Amino acid sequence: MKKAVLLDRDGVINREIDAYIFRRREFEILPDVPAALTLLKKNGFMLIIISNQGGIGKGLYKIPDVEKLHKYLISYLKDSGITIREIYYCVHHPENGNCICRKPDSLMVEKAIARFNINAEESWFIGDKERDILAGEKAGVKGILMTQNTSLLNAVKKIPGLKLK
Ligand SMILES: [Mg+2]
Ligand SMILES: [Zn+2]
Repeated sequence: MKKAVLLDRDGVINREIDAYIFRRREFEILPDVPAALTLLKKNGFMLIIISNQGGIGKGLYKIPDVEKLHKYLISYLKDSGITIREIYYCVHHPENGNCICRKPDSLMVEKAIARFNINAEESWFIGDKERDILAGEKAGVKGILMTQNTSLLNAVKKIPGLKLK
């Protein structure tokens, strides 16, 4: 079994702007993200992003818009030698009915755990909202709540026993 760090996207990886982010120019990767993810990689954590993209369900943007941003993110991180194993996102919005994937529900976390044979007990969910933490906890993954648009590196360093070099 593997250990993983599950990451929220907006406000953790890229700057939250309090509007739906679907354009490349609005997708600003936060400065210490490569350093934070490199540290996790060195400590043997698989990296997975888990994001609510309710703007799709609201008809504000489409799946290809999200995929384009994720392609950019993956290639940006690849330049730093970082692999994101998977990006899960919920396309639904409660305005158009409920689903069981949108955080704080845990279906996306459970999918990741099953597919990649993740040991939930050794894994962490880092997010900037309570719903991120709840989604992880429902699947047995402990949470680290960070302040939106701040240092992912500082959040990562809260993982006990992490080797810093
Ligand atoms: Mg967020
Ligand atoms: Zn959903």
